[in-house]
Amino acid sequence: MAVHWRSFETIVVGGGPAGLVCALELARQGRSVALVEKGGRVDHSLCPVVARRIGNGASYRDAAKARSQCGRCNCLHGVGGAALHFDSNLGYVRGLTRAKIERDADGAVQAFSHLERTLGSMERAAFLVRRCYELLAEYGLPLGNAPQRSSVSPQFERQSAFEHIDTSETFPMTLEMSLAFVRAVEADFEDRGGVLLPYHRSEAIEAGTQRRWRVVCCVPEGTTVILEADNVVLAVGKIALPWLTQAARCLEIAAAPSPEIEVGVRLEARIEQMEPLIASCDYPKLSFISKRGDAVRTFCLCAGGRLMQYEFAGAVILDGQHCYQDPTSFANMGIITRAHVEDGTQFGLEFARRITAAGSGQPLVQTVGDFLRNRPTDSIPAGVGTLRYYTAGNLRIWLPDFLVEDVCGMIERLNTLFPGTVRSDALLAAPVVERVQPDFRLTEDLSTNRAGIYMVGDCSGKVIGITYGAATGLQVADSIANG
Ligand SMILES: Cc1cc2nc3c(=O)[nH]c(=O)nc-3n(C[C@H](O)[C@H](O)[C@H](O)COP(=O)(O)OP(=O)(O)OC[C@H]3O[C@@H](n4cnc5c(N)ncnc54)[C@H](O)[C@@H]3O)c2cc1C
Repeated sequence: MAVHWRSFETIVVGGGPAGLVCALELARQGRSVALVEKGGRVDHSLCPVVARRIGNGASYRDAAKARSQCGRCNCLHGVGGAALHFDSNLGYVRGLTRAKIERDADGAVQAFSHLERTLGSMERAAFLVRRCYELLAEYGLPLGNAPQRSSVSPQFERQSAFEHIDTSETFPMTLEMSLAFVRAVEADFEDRGGVLLPYHRSEAIEAGTQRRWRVVCCVPEGTTVILEADNVVLAVGKIALPWLTQAARCLEIAAAPSPEIEVGVRLEARIEQMEPLIASCDYPKLSFISKRGDAVRTFCLCAGGRLMQYEFAGAVILDGQHCYQDPTSFANMGIITRAHVEDGTQFGLEFARRITAAGSGQPLVQTVGDFLRNRPTDSIPAGVGTLRYYTAGNLRIWLPDFLVEDVCGMIERLNTLFPGTVRSDALLAAPVVERVQPDFRLTEDLSTNRAGIYMVGDCSGKVIGITYGAATGLQVADSIANG
């Protein structure tokens, strides 16, 4: 077994938006940096069905149509990470807002931004989001073509169903744009001396001999590659949770059980039924505070999109996929509660595994009508919904009581604001699990208690999303470069 040894100032582990932007920024600042990614370069880690079609000369639009053939997505790895192999939606294109709410100790409802909270300053968070967009534009994203929508529903002014409605605008990034962006970044990163190591899976991180840290990587031929660096930036995303928690334990990274978890369902209906909501603004995020004091919100509205499932720590979980190039006749969105629990990671994993088991290894789906009446759904008529594989059943009995209450509360409020938006033939599907990481104790520059080890993006448990992930990547690059 051959062993290769190399040394850098910084090793970034994971080539999703957070790691990619961090590594790029370090290379742009002339620093010595390697980007280690267990999947391939972006062109080698596309959905094989889509890639085959593109290779055969199909347009991106036609190739994207083939994606619906996949029952379960395994394309969340490779440079570009979980998001940039698909059509996606970039948040806060015209500026960062405080989209989330919570009840404070005095009982008042406060709006906040997770990025602001992570970085300790709204000014800094907004500045980094702006810098992300400048970077995206520099590497080819046609932001000048951002649709000018933002005709926000006048109903939002006089409504009382929701405590908070965030109407910040987003940018629809097609697969074609993502690929152009990531390819341009890969090329420039290498031109500037950055070392891109695809198909390198980080196995272990331990104390180094010549530098502070050693990253032991496996490559497919069975070779072991040993890299050493003074800084290691962990950017391994949400799906790597089992590996990350193990690595963090070995490194004695300070963490506590997370006192919160975000769990929920996805709601899917025919697009014309959701039209009043879709037309209400660019990307409505509607929140209320439950009777228990937890925040409940809609998120990730995919108009013309589809539901997709992927494997996560012994379960399947659901997400929404935008299909800008090949819209479906359905719309879906998440309904999620941020609940206070003893150990968010354990709660989230048990939630996902319980529902996956109830669905015999597939997501569990129920019509809204059956959910509200607490009776099982025997089958879903052909052509209804976009999930390819699922089990119809009584989802309601597998959800915690608080979530049943919150989903019912959300349906009622949506129908109050936009009558007829959620009808009894709409579908509810689960499990949805967000923000499931332990509470890693990070400083405002995302440094752990171990000197030189940082966490960015989804794996930090502090932020979710492409723009937020990239902003945390920039923050750490700045800290290292100014260090
Ligand atoms: C289907 C779907 C649709 C989404 N749509 C949107 C959207 O429209 N807009 C939005 O803002 N967000 C969206 N998200 C969320 C978004 O994808 C994530 O928030 C974002 O990708 C997080 O970026 P990241 O860099 O932190 O992690 P990731 O993008 O998950 O990247 C982590 C990378 O680390 C690599 N890795 C993991 N373990 C190792 C290891 N041991 N060694 C080496 N490499 C490793 C992985 O292969 C992966 O490439 C979506 C997510 C999904 C699943």
